[in-house]
Formats: sequence, C-alpha cells, structure tokens
Amino acid sequence: MAETSVFSKIRAGEIPGEILHETDRVFVLKDIAPKAPVHLLVIPKTEQYRTVVELAAGDPSLLAEVVAVANKVAAANSDGDFRLIFNTGEGAGQTVFHVHAHVLAGGLTEGSLGDG
Ligand code: 5GP
Repeated sequence: MAETSVFSKIRAGEIPGEILHETDRVFVLKDIAPKAPVHLLVIPKTEQYRTVVELAAGDPSLLAEVVAVANKVAAANSDGDFRLIFNTGEGAGQTVFHVHAHVLAGGLTEGSLGDG
C-alpha cells in the first residue's frame, strides 16, 4: 500500500496546512510555496489517482469537479481568471503523486506560462 501523501496528512490534521474549501470529494489547500499572489491546490480526497491522466481515465466526473472547484475558488479569491496546471511526471516538476490541480491567479502576466 502506498504511503499517505502530504496532502492527506494535512487533511487529517497530522501536519499543518490551510484548507480553504471542501466538497464531498475534493479539498482546496493553500500552497506552501506560492508561485502567484493566489496559489491554491485542488485535490481529490482519494489518493487513487497519481496523475491527471489517470484521473481522466478513471473518474472523469471527479476531474470535472476539480475544474469546477478551481473556477469557484479562483472567483472567490481573485478576479475569476486563473491558470490551471497539472504537473504530470517528475520531468514536468511533479513532486507529489496524489493528483492535484494548481490554481494560479491574481496579477498573472500574459506569456508567463513556462517561466517557473
Ligand atoms: P507538484 O510539484 O507535485 O506539482 O506540486 C506539489 C505542490 O505541493 C508544490 O507547489 C508544493 O509547494 C506544495 N506542497 C508540498 N508540500 C506541502 C505542504 O506541506 N503544505 C502545503 N500547503 N503545500 C505543499
């Protein structure tokens, strides 16, 4: 059985973290090392899916919920415009293999995709 992810540990209260929003199936965590004025992570509660590719194949409705919640928290925490990023694989910078969407918002500059 895989080790419990850092995100699940935060959700369980085992390590500190700021959870801003929750639905039956996903939760939203403030990123500890923000790359934009608003940097949130939308995370399925299940650890079953390691990447967005696995999530899309295994539970498309859960992926749709991740996107809908991203939209909601971007609207609540910024002007509603946001960048949605799923790092997929170590070579793309993925470090936590419990699928999560990065929501970046607030003061984004056009053309900054890939800068970080
Ligand atoms: P990845 O690199 O897998 O796409 O994204 C993992 C994200 O989780 C990173 O942006 C990183 O800053 C964030 N992260 C890692 N450990 C913690 C933690 O303990 N608390 C919080 N709030 N975020 C974390």
